[in-house]
Amino acid sequence: SRPVPWCALHITPQSNLMEIMMTNPDVIYETIILGSGPAGLTAAIYAGRSRCGPLLIHGIQPGGQLTTTTAVDNFPGFPEGIDGPDLMENMRRQAERFGAQFVEGEVTRVDLQERPFRIWTGEEMYRCLSLIITTGASPKLLDLGNEEALYGRGVSVCATCDGFFYRGREVVVVGGGDTAMEEAVFLTRFASKVTVIHRRDSLRATPFLADRALTHKAINFIWDSVLTEILEDSAGVTGIRTRNLKSGNETELACDGVFIAIGHRPNTELFLNQLEMDDDGYILTRNATETNISGVFAAGDVQDHQFRQAVTAAGTGCMAAIQAERFLDNLPYDSTLSCKKGICMPKG
Ligand code: NAP
Repeated sequence: SRPVPWCALHITPQSNLMEIMMTNPDVIYETIILGSGPAGLTAAIYAGRSRCGPLLIHGIQPGGQLTTTTAVDNFPGFPEGIDGPDLMENMRRQAERFGAQFVEGEVTRVDLQERPFRIWTGEEMYRCLSLIITTGASPKLLDLGNEEALYGRGVSVCATCDGFFYRGREVVVVGGGDTAMEEAVFLTRFASKVTVIHRRDSLRATPFLADRALTHKAINFIWDSVLTEILEDSAGVTGIRTRNLKSGNETELACDGVFIAIGHRPNTELFLNQLEMDDDGYILTRNATETNISGVFAAGDVQDHQFRQAVTAAGTGCMAAIQAERFLDNLPYDSTLSCKKGICMPKG
């Protein structure tokens, strides 16, 4: 295996390098990574090992979607499973060990039309020669009008985060995929009754997770039905109205919580009109993680609508870092810049 580069051993989160970099407007990073899920952190591990000093900007959900799950059973290397937040913390520590620097903040604007690329988190501006986008995906909503207003008052997109508040209460879960099944099973720890509402008569979830929910005695299923209204009073959710898509019948069901688990949409608004995307907004990649702009790479759920697994995200994060390294290696020598520890400054 390759030796750890000397700079990775010297840049630690405790060093004052971060301060120097942040306060110097001339700094150009060799690599910036946007997002801190499995793709971003794996890219940071690889980028740190090979060239040193990638800067990773967390985004609004540090650690990504895995911080909202419980046991991750299928990430290789953990025969007993591992909690999502623990897995992400391990990855972060591993990236830190190889010199990755972390900035907490939400990216508000990017300009990929000129080089170096520019990234803003509010007033703060960062420049880089290569960019790895791993901004992931966010839960989809049903567009019923009052879902977002009812966040924290009965509507949730994260059973792991909010399930605890439904002890002894009745909840519904919308969706028929892996997430919906996992959430339904998890919610049985707290809720007195869990009802899954799915728009078809068979589940999309993988057989293992589907069977676990279907055979769980505390979970009921309402098939072929969509949620048409979330009923509320001044305290929050009181129930739902559903419509059976085969019979057209509308039914009301009293409940205290609605967990929406109908999939995700990619977090790509920032890159509209700059990067090529498919009709659903996923960044189009070719030759692994390359985008239509050379030096800009995309990895993880932001470019993958097919597999969307932690391990596949990590795999593409690794590819993006290796491709960014090759891109940097092949950049024409810029005599005006002096680069050290992953950071470039104008000479003189
Ligand atoms: P998903 O697989 O896309 O499933 C979304 C579910 O919501 C589907 O059943 C879909 O119905 C339903 N749905 C979508 N839009 C709807 C709408 N407007 N109204 C009503 N229902 C709607 O999403 P996911 O469950 O979040 O899973 C995403 C990926 O993560 C998958 O690859 C999954 O395998 C993976 N994942 C894995 C694990 C694990 O392995 N432990 C856990 C969670 C997620 P239809 O079935 O009719 O399309």
